Amino acid sequence: MNFEDLIRDVYQKIKNIDDKGEMASYIPELSKVNPKNFGVHISTIKKVNFGMGNYNGKFSIQSITKVLSLILAYRIVGDEIWDRVGVEPSGTAFNSLVQLEADKGIPRNPFLNAGAIVVSDILLSNLKNPKEDFIDFVRSISNNKALEYSNKIAQSEKDVGYRNVALCNFIKSFGKIENEPSDVLDFYFDLCSLEMSCKELSELFLFLANNGLGVHNNKSILSESQSKRINALMQTCGFYDESGEFAFKVGLPGKSGVGGGIIAIHPNQYAIAVWSPKLNKKGNSHKGMKFLEEFTTRSELSIF
Ligand code: GLU
Repeated sequence: MNFEDLIRDVYQKIKNIDDKGEMASYIPELSKVNPKNFGVHISTIKKVNFGMGNYNGKFSIQSITKVLSLILAYRIVGDEIWDRVGVEPSGTAFNSLVQLEADKGIPRNPFLNAGAIVVSDILLSNLKNPKEDFIDFVRSISNNKALEYSNKIAQSEKDVGYRNVALCNFIKSFGKIENEPSDVLDFYFDLCSLEMSCKELSELFLFLANNGLGVHNNKSILSESQSKRINALMQTCGFYDESGEFAFKVGLPGKSGVGGGIIAIHPNQYAIAVWSPKLNKKGNSHKGMKFLEEFTTRSELSIF
């Protein structure tokens, strides 16, 4: 498979489609990003690294960070994590409160805001210096010291994060948050503010295509079984209320964020990252989804 040629072709085709999406404006700072940005980068197990468009431009990875915080918490507390957060697709919006009442403060999955807030609480209880320890962990995965949080984005979200405040307090009312909600939320907003380029994202996530082993150093980041489980969760819950649609059209595990980024994994093959800030009605990058659909269709490679 010549991934370079394929990406070149698909990029040219998708670049010019009518971008019907809308920018995420509920976090004011995100609406200031140039909507025309469009980048893609692939990193393969066989060491192909190739990008098109603005693949070096940094953007706010938002919910994609939820995969990384889950991985760190999973490494620390192991399977106990599944007592605090479920593994079922929710069929509701990412910021929904409705199921928490019936489920008594156990979020359906770790990629809902509710689930990621619980994961943040677990990290807060287990890390000495949560903010520093988390970024050190993320940097160590791909040996990339250039990764940083954005204070601007974190503050912008904090100023208007009323739903997340509600979610965290609601879960706390069931006794399912250990720390002070304001501390949990500060940490959660910092995690969501991480910035990366498509190139950095695809390099970082490549270990999930490599059975949990770091590709640059062969060190275990997750066991094979844990890596399979993270991929399974991305497959079933990674795209908000559109996870079924993504599996149907693209056929790869992945995760999106409201900054317009998407990371997708082909186990034993590659990690691919796409960024285009305008989002469809379900909150996923409009062009990003289109690109990946065309890419897996034309490559005739997916996990199905
Ligand atoms: N920080 C965002 C929020 O909590 C993340 C949402 C997302 O990317 O899905 O609303």
